[in-house]
Amino acid sequence: MAVYIGLDIGGTKIMVASADRGGNILRRERTATSTSLEEDLTNINSMIAEVAKEDKIMGMGAAIGGPLDWEQGIVSPLHQPAWRNVPLKAIMEEKWGCPFHVDVDTNVAALGEYRWGGVSAKRFLYLTLSTGMGGGLLINGEIYRGQNGAHPEVGHQSIPFQSSNSLAVQCECGAPDCLEALVSGNGIRRIYGKPAEELAAKEWDEVSYNLGQGLRNMAVLYVPDIIRIGGGVAVGGGNNFIQAAKTVMEEHLKLVPAPQVELSYLGYDTALRGAIAMAF
Ligand SMILES: [Zn+2]
Repeated sequence: MAVYIGLDIGGTKIMVASADRGGNILRRERTATSTSLEEDLTNINSMIAEVAKEDKIMGMGAAIGGPLDWEQGIVSPLHQPAWRNVPLKAIMEEKWGCPFHVDVDTNVAALGEYRWGGVSAKRFLYLTLSTGMGGGLLINGEIYRGQNGAHPEVGHQSIPFQSSNSLAVQCECGAPDCLEALVSGNGIRRIYGKPAEELAAKEWDEVSYNLGQGLRNMAVLYVPDIIRIGGGVAVGGGNNFIQAAKTVMEEHLKLVPAPQVELSYLGYDTALRGAIAMAF
């Protein structure tokens, strides 16, 4: 039988799955990300062997944090310091003898949500709110890329924000007022001194207001049909959080039609399923 392999290589965990020609996941494995590149690569290869069994691997796709060169498949994920200028595509194609494609995790997640989450919109924006924050924009199902293939960084736009601890708002990129610094898991920890799952209702109100202002900017610039939002913070906040942010967006959006705003359909598997879509 022919199988397709998807990899989701994150800063805390690595997930690998095999899927059949219909995209149904057959087998899956996960492990914690280590602090050694060699150990991570060894783990990845043994998990691939485990999920592929005796089947023929037709292709592989991988999601990983940026920055990276998607054409050459050279990766340097910011939150994995052991991984610097790793020629992942060349390493994996040499080892496994099948095509291998890698892209920024938020682009891959957008592809997953589009292909397996029932999206048919021409202009589709997917946002991830997890440790950090990012997005992937698809036009007719194709990833939008910037100059020289650069990935648009929607988390690093400035917004008019509300915060009960505004002195603690500081983005890891160096700017003082990024959306990511207000609505990502790391940003929330910095501002409120606790993880998103422990936020009080009033604190969630601030986070949803700030996300809503970011959605308003993205809606007014991209005018997408649908914005879907996933990642641990969004999934944890749930539909109430997303709806509150959507209301703020709509209140401030005047000249363009409001997009649909929804919680991710695929939850924690969005990037893994997108990696399988890339393997196809
Ligand atoms: Zn920033």
